[in-house]
Amino acid sequence: MTGTLYVIATPIGNLADASPRSVETLRNVDLIACEDTRTSSKLLAHFGISVRTVALHEHNERTASKELIQALRHGKSIALISDAGTPALSDPGAWLVAQAHAAGIPVCPVAGPSAAAAAISAAGFPASRFLFAGFLPAQAGARRKALQALDLPYPVVIYEAPHRISETLKDLAAKFGDREIVIARELSKKFEEVARMPLAAAVEWLEERRERAQGEFVLVLAPGEERPASAVDAERVLDVLLGSLPPSEAAKLAARITGEPKSELYKKALKRTK
Ligand code: SAM
Repeated sequence: MTGTLYVIATPIGNLADASPRSVETLRNVDLIACEDTRTSSKLLAHFGISVRTVALHEHNERTASKELIQALRHGKSIALISDAGTPALSDPGAWLVAQAHAAGIPVCPVAGPSAAAAAISAAGFPASRFLFAGFLPAQAGARRKALQALDLPYPVVIYEAPHRISETLKDLAAKFGDREIVIARELSKKFEEVARMPLAAAVEWLEERRERAQGEFVLVLAPGEERPASAVDAERVLDVLLGSLPPSEAAKLAARITGEPKSELYKKALKRTK
């Protein structure tokens, strides 16, 4: 009989958010794989858990996973936790979980806190779908480029470090100035703030109080406008037709192909041929 790999979400700041099931599972496994054993020792001590811990972080995940899979094959049960929140979500763990699947070892998630889910729940944007963008690139040029792909008709969740929050808000305001943003700061902790505002006001909000530039942040960017797929297609079709037809003919054909109004397409065709 193999053991089970339990993937356990832990609090993102408030220890009272640890579910009874997560504590019970941590207490009963043979081994706990932690992103940082010292960080997790506080959580484990708080609940009087004295199970042996091993480190599994981004720099040793592959080698550590080999030994953990061996132990699981020999029937040991193992819990995987990260420093905070849900393992493998912008955190190490996916490699170990993939190896467990490959070895036919049962993987059992013990769901719980995640900063992304908490921020979405408190943002108030329709979120039947959303994009989790994680951390944006640290380098300014790459970050601005990455923003091009975030112009979406549904909310975008971004994790950000305190030393980059101001720069990121400025870049977001430059690109999506007319939208709203939710800044979720220090979730579940003593100085928690969840503030929704126009993006243009976000940097000012941050600078209003010095301590605001510290702590942990999730940003939720409001959805952009839904663009019908045909509007994009119509412009492409128009461009192709304009390659060999005069504007009026191109607009007429593009309207028949896409269902877009001929007059609108004709105006666009004239603009493009100017
Ligand atoms: N696995 C974690 C989760 O499930 O949310 C995320 C880990 S990621 C390395 C750390 C980032 O999550 C932080 O930089 C911050 O963007 C976000 N985060 C974590 N805890 C938070 C909190 N209490 N308040 C706001 N953001 C938080």
